[in-house]
Order: sequence, then structure tokens, then C-alpha cells
Amino acid sequence: MTGFSFSLSATDGKARTGAITTLRGTIRTPAFMPVGTAATVKAMLPESVAATGADILLGNTYHLMLRPGAERVDRLGGLHEFMNWSKPILTDSGGFQVMSLAGLRKLTEEGVAFKSHIDGSRHMLTPERSMEIQRLLGSDIVMCFDECPALPAEEKAVAESMRLSMRWAQRSRDAFGDRPGHALFGIQQGGVTRDLRAESAEALQEIGFDGYAVGGLAVGEGQEIMFDVLDFAPDMLPVDKPRYLMGVGKPDDIVGAVKRGIDMMDCVLPSRSGRTGQVFTRRGVVNIKNARHADDPRPLDEGCSCPACRGYSRAYLHHVFRAQEMISGMLLTWHNLQYYQDLMAGMREAIAAGTFCDWENQFHADRALGDIEPV
Ligand SMILES: [Zn+2]
Repeated sequence: MTGFSFSLSATDGKARTGAITTLRGTIRTPAFMPVGTAATVKAMLPESVAATGADILLGNTYHLMLRPGAERVDRLGGLHEFMNWSKPILTDSGGFQVMSLAGLRKLTEEGVAFKSHIDGSRHMLTPERSMEIQRLLGSDIVMCFDECPALPAEEKAVAESMRLSMRWAQRSRDAFGDRPGHALFGIQQGGVTRDLRAESAEALQEIGFDGYAVGGLAVGEGQEIMFDVLDFAPDMLPVDKPRYLMGVGKPDDIVGAVKRGIDMMDCVLPSRSGRTGQVFTRRGVVNIKNARHADDPRPLDEGCSCPACRGYSRAYLHHVFRAQEMISGMLLTWHNLQYYQDLMAGMREAIAAGTFCDWENQFHADRALGDIEPV
């Protein structure tokens, strides 16, 4: 396929680094994708998101189809133009959020009928409609429409759900057609069961995709079980295609996933936490609302280059959070996204240098120290 390619430049153990090339720019992997749910990464200008080092954003089909509507975005020039972001965009299929957010929904072989959580209006998402919406949005990386059961679930239910998703994957592939410069990713399902994961991976490769996601994780199973699955699931996917772990996660989830061969991730955590006063630093999580920061003239993180750390004290960030000033969410979100992008850059460098194991040990050692001593 022209206009989309993936190349690995180094591996260290199972960890990989490389680049995805698209018509809208290069995505350095492993990559973290900030989430721009409603055509905005909340509290951030698009140029600020780019300044943190993000090469790609994620947009949510479910939210955008309901408001402002995919046809409207298309008339206004597509999602890139609409939200003023010129780099690549990956859109999810809407399947996961229909199941988690929509009211009254009905799942059939055809697709999912549901009521909007915003105004109760009735909608139908099918593989064909999901492909159409993602095309109207102008997404660079399109995800197959799938169904994802919450864990824990009975193995029989997981198997039936996975096989439905594989039939939908074929329908997604057929509906996507041939769109040079745009990629379609398949999604492996099968819960925590090795045989089901293998069956799913085989079914997807028979259809053929430009990249493969490990789906159905980070849905309540916990890190230990997730890592157990990641010990075998990515190995079932083609070596020469990008592997995307959907909806992950906390910094240590991300490091553990990269260690197990994952190339792409997304999560609302850094941006959402920025609005609730939870800050990610090299030395673990800091709650800026705690009184211990009220007189602290030091930055959040000495080693961080973001505007929140360069220009403001913990005391100021504590004050604006407590006063519910808008700049609080802006600065803390920027810092968190910077932390995540620095984390990815650190891993890319370490993999390239063949020192990922040392890097990982240092990552855990720094976090074990806990936050700096109070003033
Ligand atoms: Zn910072």
C-alpha cells in the first residue's frame, strides 16, 4: 500500500523502535497517542500537543458521530482541518464506547443499535457505518469495528464475541476498500485465553491489515493479567506491522507493554489527570492539591522542560488548582503529556542503544524513591 509504511530500526529483547510513515508525517515508535475525544485534547492547543513531542492523536468515532456529526466534519474539511491538527490522526471504531457509554443498546450480527448518551437520539453502528464515519473524519489510521466484552467473562462468551469481531473485521476490510495513504488496523480479541488469541490473530492475518491492535485488555483485569496476556499475544501478530495496545495506560503499564513488543498506545489518563490535580513525575504520582505544596517554591519536576515546570512553582500550581482557575488544567495537562512523551522518547533511545533493561531498572528505581521531601 502506498503512503503508509512501518519500519523497525532496532529491537532490544522484545522491545522495538522504529517509525510509521504516513502522508501526514512520521510517527516514532513506540508512540503514545494523546486522546482528542471531541476534536480537542482538553485544555491544550494543538500546537502545544505537538510541542510535547506527540506525532499522532486519537479521535473518538462515537463522540464525533454524535456531536458535531461525521458528515458535518466532512463538509468542514475533515477532522484535521476542523481541529487545526495537521499530523496523523487515528480514530477508534466507536465499538468500545458504544458499549461503555451509550444508553439502551442492542447487539446483533448486523451491528449495535443504541441511544445517544447526550440526547437520547437513536443510532446504529455497523462495520460499514464505522468505516464510513472514519472516512468522513479523514482519519489516517482507521480501526476495525469490533466488540469487546468486559473482563472477567465466561470463556464461551469471549469466544463468541471474538468470532463476531472477526466477521466484523472482514466486513470492515471490505467496506474500507482501497484508500492509498490510509491504513486499516485489525483488532485481536480473545480475552485472556491463548487459544482464542491465536485463533483471532490467524483470522485477522488471513484478511490482511496494515497494523494490528491487541484489543480487549485494560478493561478491568488488572496489570498482572494484562502482562500475562501480553507475554504471548503480540508474538502472534506479524513482526513487520505496527502493534497497538488500546486504552493503555499508567506509566508502568506502558513500560511493561513496550517491553513485551507493543509499538503504539493511547490513554486519557495524562490529560484527565491534569484536570483532577494528579501529576505524573519521574518519582511517581504527585497530588498537587495536597497542602504540603502550598509554600513549595520548587517546580513539579526539575528534569522536565514543560511550561508548568519552567515557569511555575508547586505553590502556584497548588494555588490555581485550589482556586479552580483554568490555567491549572492547562499547565498540569501540558506537564502530564510532556511526561508521557519524554517517557516514550527515553524508551526509544534506550531500545536503539540496546540498554532498555538498564533504562527500565532506573525507571522503577526513580519511582520507588517517591516524591521529593517537603520543604
Ligand atoms: Zn513539566
